[in-house]
Amino acid sequence: MSHLSTKQLEDLRLRLLDAKSSAKILLAQGAPGTEPVEASGKTIGRLTRMDALQVQAMAQMSRHQLDIRLKQIEASLTEWEAGKYGVCRHCKGSIGVKRLEALPEAPFCLACQESFEV
Ligand SMILES: [Zn+2]
Repeated sequence: MSHLSTKQLEDLRLRLLDAKSSAKILLAQGAPGTEPVEASGKTIGRLTRMDALQVQAMAQMSRHQLDIRLKQIEASLTEWEAGKYGVCRHCKGSIGVKRLEALPEAPFCLACQESFEV
């Protein structure tokens, strides 16, 4: 069983789906970083403020970074469908809820991520 509640899982899945469509829109625009993100536009109108900020952060990414992000998001969605979402790909431990809320597609737990960055 997942350490996440059904509601948390559902919320995070919606966040992933939103992030996925945002990333696809930005990639389709061809030049991320050059187009201002319409925070009140139709595309992200239903997102929370935090997600709107995340979309803006995404808009600053290079095409390559965005491509990697999209792949991570898709991998997370695949894991979600398989009931394995929120599990660290390195140590197989649980990824903290706060970390997932900040970065729904996080592939590793904080401890592993930090060990990679040292
Ligand atoms: Zn880990």
